[in-house]
Amino acid sequence: MVSSKMYELGTKKSTIRTIFEFGRKRAAQVGEENIFDFSLGNPNVPTPDFVRDAAIEILQTYEPAKVHGYTVAPGNPQVRETLAQSINARFGTHFAGKNLFITSGAAAAITICFKALAEPGDEFITFAPYFPEYKVFVESVGAELKVVKPRPTDWQIDFDDFQRLLSPKTKAVIINSPNNPSGAVYSKETIAKLTDILKAQGRNIFLICDEPYRELAYGVEVPWVPSFYKDTLVCYSYSKSFSLPGERIGYIVVPDEVADFDKIFGAVAGAARVLTHVNAPSLWQLVVARCAGKSIDITPYERNGKLLYDGLIAAGFECVKPQGAFYLFPKSLEADDYAFCERAKKYDLLLVPGADFGAPGYFRAAYCIKTETIERSLPLFKRLAEDYRS
Ligand code: PLP
Repeated sequence: MVSSKMYELGTKKSTIRTIFEFGRKRAAQVGEENIFDFSLGNPNVPTPDFVRDAAIEILQTYEPAKVHGYTVAPGNPQVRETLAQSINARFGTHFAGKNLFITSGAAAAITICFKALAEPGDEFITFAPYFPEYKVFVESVGAELKVVKPRPTDWQIDFDDFQRLLSPKTKAVIINSPNNPSGAVYSKETIAKLTDILKAQGRNIFLICDEPYRELAYGVEVPWVPSFYKDTLVCYSYSKSFSLPGERIGYIVVPDEVADFDKIFGAVAGAARVLTHVNAPSLWQLVVARCAGKSIDITPYERNGKLLYDGLIAAGFECVKPQGAFYLFPKSLEADDYAFCERAKKYDLLLVPGADFGAPGYFRAAYCIKTETIERSLPLFKRLAEDYRS
């Protein structure tokens, strides 16, 4: 009667959603302030004033048809040009509007890239720990996701395992840096080694960079990957940087240098069409163009990350120091990360098992929450750790 696969996807709750719902129920019982919900990656830093002011001004002064009407599928031409120039100013590139396809956030951007590239039997490779939706998105386009095993010492890349998984079926490789859930930023050395391996394959394997956390990096450089490898597609989103996850706005960069630009850009447009993307929200296209290049204040995330990291280390947890995004990915205190997260619930600490991200034995704590909540959670993490020692 219905597609069993779609039914399964639509009704099977993700672990994160289940934890979140548990938190809502507990909040009703014990009070919101007594729940320490580290489960969701929903930015808590308010949308910058310059973004809200731009939205208000556009709504008040532009012709309604320009704000609310359709744009052409790849996006408003002036917006594309403005964003391209802003990227050029940052990375010394030479993009024009024609290199950008404006999307409804990063989820749409990466899915459009997957669909644009995938042919039956293709494989896509990504690196654990990874954003779990990749599997859903890759499978939705009839391809298979292969996952390189994690490298827990620094959450960079296990190149031996990567080489093992590379095959004639590999169509593209997906990287996410700064990373959800590990907080790692791939170093220049990592990107250079990764792209050297791809170049040595002697055929066009695409590199898809999923970069919604690009601006959330704490004192480290996030390498600009197209300068290392020509067949790179960059997927960007304003969800995290401008705290706009509900507004659905981002873009894909297709550099001139990719093998057969016209074909790739055409396939991106075709994929967006099939996915009924139509166009990214018109108002938000105008807003992000107005705000292009404006810097954001990441100190609240940096402060939260440091507070939580120091607190967990003091409590006896092991954790690679995160360099970006707003997640910590410590080792769970027992091998079974699901059992660990269940036990943490006794203290109303809501954490996500690492197995959900392809890295069992770890857990994710999203620190995009109130600093005060983190402060009050630290004694509970300490008691949880003591619980394991007793
Ligand atoms: N990619 C990663 C790694 C993410 O963490 C997220 C959201 O959390 C997305 C993509 C989706 O972002 P967007 O809201 O822009 O669709």
